[in-house]
Amino acid sequence: MKGTPMSYQIAAVVVICLFFFPAASLGAAQQTVPDEVNSAGGDPAIISMMQQINETMLFDYHDGLMRFGPRYTGSLNCSLASQYIYHAFEDMGLSVAFHPWHYAGFSCRNVVATLPGTDVNSTAEYILCGHYDTVAGAPGADDDGSGTAAVLAIASVLCQHQFNHTIRFIAFSGEEVGTYGSFSYAREAAFRGDTIVAVLNMDMIGYANTTEGGRTLRFFPPPRSHWVAEYAQDISLTYQNTVDMTVDILPNYRGADHQPFVDYGYDGVWIAHQDGYPWAHTPQDSPDKLNWSYYVKATKLMLAITVEFTIRPLDVHVVLRSPYEGYTYLFKRPLLQTSFAKHWYTGLRGLTILLGANALAHADVFTKETIEYVVFCIDGNFVVWDREPPYEWAIKGNYYPLIGKHTLSVSAFTSTGKCAYDEMDLFIVSLRTSYRG
Ligand SMILES: [Zn+2]
Repeated sequence: MKGTPMSYQIAAVVVICLFFFPAASLGAAQQTVPDEVNSAGGDPAIISMMQQINETMLFDYHDGLMRFGPRYTGSLNCSLASQYIYHAFEDMGLSVAFHPWHYAGFSCRNVVATLPGTDVNSTAEYILCGHYDTVAGAPGADDDGSGTAAVLAIASVLCQHQFNHTIRFIAFSGEEVGTYGSFSYAREAAFRGDTIVAVLNMDMIGYANTTEGGRTLRFFPPPRSHWVAEYAQDISLTYQNTVDMTVDILPNYRGADHQPFVDYGYDGVWIAHQDGYPWAHTPQDSPDKLNWSYYVKATKLMLAITVEFTIRPLDVHVVLRSPYEGYTYLFKRPLLQTSFAKHWYTGLRGLTILLGANALAHADVFTKETIEYVVFCIDGNFVVWDREPPYEWAIKGNYYPLIGKHTLSVSAFTSTGKCAYDEMDLFIVSLRTSYRG
């Protein structure tokens, strides 16, 4: 182990300074190049699933939730609402579980239903989610009764079918108090090593008051998850004859339930309607404000998007398993779990800090094809390649010391030219360099 007293001082100063850089974008992600959606006009089987979504069933699920009134995290109403969601999933025959969480003085639970994928060689999963909690005193018809009831409605159709990859339908709590429910889930998922490919977070999808807004569903991805929104946009164009609604892509917003997943190394997007909704977080956020025909369309489109994602073969898939998200390393050792989670807006959740060189970057590659090579990069620049598993690299500067925020990425190429990609942001203070990688 090497290191000078100077490097520790720099480390201390820079780590402290980092608190004051809210613009730092942290976490990691994985991107694959989307295939084209090649079924012009859409897959008839998917169209028939979309047609099973109607206003009556959506209203019934939504109404069931509205009966509990405001559902502030930790309140009795919130707990009763979680039971209602649990039983709704159970009635569909899905395997369902409460995911209890305790954080920042709050104790509550998420509700997680699972539709297992049929591909036994794949651990890939997709999450379709909304949040069932509300701010105090608000019925939360749009925010986010709309997303939660859409999760239930889509699950009630998809549970009658099977798809390549696993789908998890999740109703989160703790969103309005700081996205604590999704944070608790995402942190545990990263720790378990769940292979979550994308998180589709519907939060406020039940309103439109303009013609243009009535035809638009907005996706808000962080840059690294742009491919999720682009693929969804392609799908919306494919199914435009069935549902007259397309996907617009806007910049990310950190304060929603997809963000903790992004912070912990996954891809995710926030999904919402276009038109302004003046009643959010007020007692007036009631079902009579919703535009039900828009809401039905948005739910149908989200069903198609979910299915197209989960039937799409993942020819090659790569995941950076270490360094661990949200840990501080001293040289090669993970020393302690970093916790900045109360403050989602700083973007410091999941922050990984490397003090000194040689923390191990380890990539797992999933494919039935032959791996040609696996390349590790820093800030998009080639550092080292590996042809044989384990795909590993002891992180250090190549020609210059690594000090500050850097992006570690890994790309896996198959012999047929297919490529998969994953990346994570690191805060590194290391003076060690090596010309040989
Ligand atoms: Zn919300």
